[in-house]
Amino acid sequence: MASPLPPTPVGVRVRVPAKINLALKVGGRRPDGYHPLATVYHAVSLYDEVEAAWAEPDEFAVAVSGEGAAQVPLDDSNLALRAARLLARTHGPYDSLGAHLTIRKAIPVAAGLAGGSSNGAAALLACSVLWDLDVSSDGLRELAAELGSDVPFALLGGTALGSGRGEEVVPALARGTYHWVLAFGHHGLSTPAVYGRFDELTPDAGAPEVPDDLMNALRSGDPALLGAALSNDLQDAALDLQPRLRQVLEAGLEYGAVGAVVSGSGPTCAFLAANEAAAIDLTVALSADGVCREVRRVSGPVVGARVVA
Ligand code: ATP
Repeated sequence: MASPLPPTPVGVRVRVPAKINLALKVGGRRPDGYHPLATVYHAVSLYDEVEAAWAEPDEFAVAVSGEGAAQVPLDDSNLALRAARLLARTHGPYDSLGAHLTIRKAIPVAAGLAGGSSNGAAALLACSVLWDLDVSSDGLRELAAELGSDVPFALLGGTALGSGRGEEVVPALARGTYHWVLAFGHHGLSTPAVYGRFDELTPDAGAPEVPDDLMNALRSGDPALLGAALSNDLQDAALDLQPRLRQVLEAGLEYGAVGAVVSGSGPTCAFLAANEAAAIDLTVALSADGVCREVRRVSGPVVGARVVA
């Protein structure tokens, strides 16, 4: 139930990480249009913030600033707005709830880092706290799955196995902290376009399974083993749509990365470094090379969506 008025005077702020996929195995397109996935998600220290503040009953609005803000829709297709409305409809006295959402983006849009999904997860958490709703974490997870394949992982964070269409997540047994360098592209890639190209390139995709070598590498905590085990079934499709990504991947490996992979549907390339010092060197070398738009050094795993003071 929602708490009685007066409403909380200040907003509730939630910080939520980007994800990369350490493995992304994709099966053949199902009759419902979705692809079955077997993936290993990994949350990294690149964060968006979503703040929710009280608004008049049934008034929902969003404002966006930061990285790629101009490409983020402000209408009802915004995932944070959809999340707030879904939560109010399913768990609150809908007519008496409203929210003004403010999104501060650091995660690039359409970059394969699940920025929109992470905003959806953050809005679910922020509004549940703002409205003081009686909703369990399982309840939030169910709504997250309804919103999109990557949304439940954004609530959970860490390193996790994803199955179904990616929405069924369980924590993975993993050791250590990894140092990554992310290379952002000049242009985004549309997820449906990448899956469409995947279908053309892989007409006989079988049942997806996460490779054993990746799970063993994660248990060992050894970056060299993990680097060698990174894989992404969508990578060829992303490279086909943006051939320049091949140069980016080659440059990162040349500058000492122990592994390189396109994240999700791309175009962000994720490079694993042997340690923090190597990640700093790699960041400097890739920035100086100018092969990509921007370079960011991050680490993982980090926790999922959390309220911040
Ligand atoms: P996916 O999760 O499908 O792999 P992605 O991580 O590559 O996507 P997103 O940053 O989530 O990319 O953006 C995909 C599209 O989602 C954008 O083109 C945008 O139109 C839409 N979108 C809706 N809400 C948001 C949001 N809050 N932030 C960013 N994009 C959003």
